[in-house]
Amino acid sequence: MDIVNSCDPQGPLAAVLEELTQSAEIIGLDDRTLQKLRHPKRTFIVSIPVLMDDGGLNVFTGYRVQHNIDRGPAKGGIRYHPDVSLEKTVALSMLMTWKCAVVDIPYGGAKGGIICDPADMSKNELEHMTRRYTTELIDVFGPERDIPAPDMGTGPEVMGWIMDTYSMNKGYSVPGVVTGKPLSIGGARGRSKATGRGCVFVIREAAKREGIELDGATMVLQGFGNVGSALAELIVPLGVKVIAIGDVAGSIYNSGGLDIAALKRFSDEAGSVVGFPESEPLDNGDLLTLDCDILVPAALEGQINDCNAADISARLVVEAANAPTTPEGDRILNERGIVIVPDILANAGGVTVSYFEWVQSLQAYFWTEEQVNLRLEDVMTRAFENVYDEAKKRDLDMRTAAMTVAVGRVAEAITDRGIFP
Ligand code: GLU
Repeated sequence: MDIVNSCDPQGPLAAVLEELTQSAEIIGLDDRTLQKLRHPKRTFIVSIPVLMDDGGLNVFTGYRVQHNIDRGPAKGGIRYHPDVSLEKTVALSMLMTWKCAVVDIPYGGAKGGIICDPADMSKNELEHMTRRYTTELIDVFGPERDIPAPDMGTGPEVMGWIMDTYSMNKGYSVPGVVTGKPLSIGGARGRSKATGRGCVFVIREAAKREGIELDGATMVLQGFGNVGSALAELIVPLGVKVIAIGDVAGSIYNSGGLDIAALKRFSDEAGSVVGFPESEPLDNGDLLTLDCDILVPAALEGQINDCNAADISARLVVEAANAPTTPEGDRILNERGIVIVPDILANAGGVTVSYFEWVQSLQAYFWTEEQVNLRLEDVMTRAFENVYDEAKKRDLDMRTAAMTVAVGRVAEAITDRGIFP
């Protein structure tokens, strides 16, 4: 069951539908195409019985939603988290459609998830749950159909199990069925840091346009998982001081800038940033409103909302997480002149390198990490420029501009294909 957050009473689906409707109006989208885009193409709900280590049976609920496949196969991550719901999965699948379109890679959008708490499960239980989920969706996934990837609570190990389960069913190895898999079975070099690296390219471009000198700029980061930790590591060489970081357990602060390499070693060991020696503790409620130049939410949805948006002091907000800002939070930040680089652009580095991985897997020809990173930089800077130019041309904020670019591209594909039959 979803717990209603009083600071985000609508939830992310209402928000993405509102953004879609608004961008459709701006580009003068015809109603037929808008109606098509408001509905996910296919929605799958599966029960996943798992024999737990204590001998008991747990039946988990899993989802896979394919929002759109007009520009290419469905693409998107799989989330293992207690807050997974059908509604959220639909919202996140729509965001994947826009994300792939905004960086102009040939995919539609999808998302999957299982309601579970991976922190409370053994490796054995996670493996059985993953293999059964994959088996239930064996005809849904496929390199030309629907290609899963990591999201919150999943990573290369889970992708390896999905690839193996799918391949065992087919009778031969199918590396192109998932991305974000281990290097030994066709993973792409640079994939694990790709979302964080993509964010850094976007921050660099945004800072240039907004006249923010990165050398000496301060950053506050919410989330120190795969995305947040890579981003922090890669932004420090540009002279940015990461002064505060929070995770579920709490937040830490150091006005001189946190030592990210030492913090990463500490949090890998301790399971949290809390207690890091060279820092002061900070309340999670005070993290986002801390004085800084750049604020990066890299955790859950709905974090910047009508309860705290008025107190945010950053000049630039870069959405490394999916849907971290509610529509009301967005309105308040825009009114206050705070520039927001939206999720579908800011965190698209992950799916961009997923695309590179898929191409490499299909061709069985692998690139160096340098090639991956250079091509990522090229895609991210071009996408940023497209969105920035659109914002200037139509006098829009960056989120609306990213949406009009993305929806425009998907709509063009729909028009060119026509409605079947
Ligand atoms: N889960 C990531 C996202 O939300 C990556 C998706 C992918 O690589 O397909 O963008």
